[in-house]
Amino acid sequence: MSRVLVTGGAGYIGGTTVALLLQRGFEVTVLDDCSTGHADSVPAGATFYQGSILDGDVVRKALAGCDAVIHFAAKSLVGESVEKPDLYRNNNIGGSQVLFDEMDGAGISRIVVSSSAATYGDSKVQPILETHKAHPTNPYGETKLAVDNLLTDLCAEENFAAISLRYFNVAGAMKIDSGWLTERHNPETHLIPNVLKATADKPLKIFGTDWDTKDGTCIRDYVHVVDLADAHLRALDALKAGAHEIINLGSGGGYSVREVVTTSSKVVGYEIPAVEVDRRAGDPAVLIASIEKAKSMLGWEPTRDLESMISDAYQSLTAV
Ligand code: UDP
Repeated sequence: MSRVLVTGGAGYIGGTTVALLLQRGFEVTVLDDCSTGHADSVPAGATFYQGSILDGDVVRKALAGCDAVIHFAAKSLVGESVEKPDLYRNNNIGGSQVLFDEMDGAGISRIVVSSSAATYGDSKVQPILETHKAHPTNPYGETKLAVDNLLTDLCAEENFAAISLRYFNVAGAMKIDSGWLTERHNPETHLIPNVLKATADKPLKIFGTDWDTKDGTCIRDYVHVVDLADAHLRALDALKAGAHEIINLGSGGGYSVREVVTTSSKVVGYEIPAVEVDRRAGDPAVLIASIEKAKSMLGWEPTRDLESMISDAYQSLTAV
């Protein structure tokens, strides 16, 4: 039986991946400091340590008996990273370094890491290939790139086996026996939860309608969190000693903010209240993933469309 350490397993994507690992027969240990995650999001059946990846002692305890790691634990808000770059560097890069050192010490060398499209920065060419020059435009993206670079070195020098999965826009929710695993961010910045929470008093703000896109709003590539989690399990299988692969995860297509609002109105059966406001600082116009590498290397393809992401997110929000 294989045991996997999932750092950040009390978060939205981490918790969903833990649930899927357990369903597929893995044993799971979770390490999460619950700074943004929630202890009650850790699926039953996982061994849970509440602690930080910056704390070598707790990392060592959590690694006991594991033969692979899936590493989600990180600060992940672009806006906050601009205000507090040192917090992001310390937690994301420093914490990952502690984790990698402890893995090395324990003789564990297989790791799948949560990376981000934010590593690429603005791109004139869409869809974005993994070979695209990494040029992050904010400290969050810089820290994710730095972690990817650490892994490249570890694979070359210490024979680690690593895959960095670069997420585009993740949405949806997963139903498990005890209820829904869903997004619980505070403040919530992501489009789909904000669309679903919009009311006449607090309408959705559409950030910018003068972008150079078909309807003037930004275009993003959305992928269902369960499809995304499934890619992590496939990545575990695809790890090769001495190799660090970078693989994009998205749908390979894009939707504008207006299209997300229209589809959501259809799913929920009422018109989403929305107002048009200025652009949000730091937003690129279009982000679409090339997912050819995920298809060929992981045999992975998204199976759930935008309607299903919105419908699952809506059910999860109305269930709690
Ligand atoms: N967006 C919006 N209103 C919101 C939240 C997001 O118009 O309340 C837009 C945002 O400007 C971007 C897209 O929706 O163009 C996706 O934003 P999100 O924060 O979900 O993901 P990001 O692409 O920034 O990672």
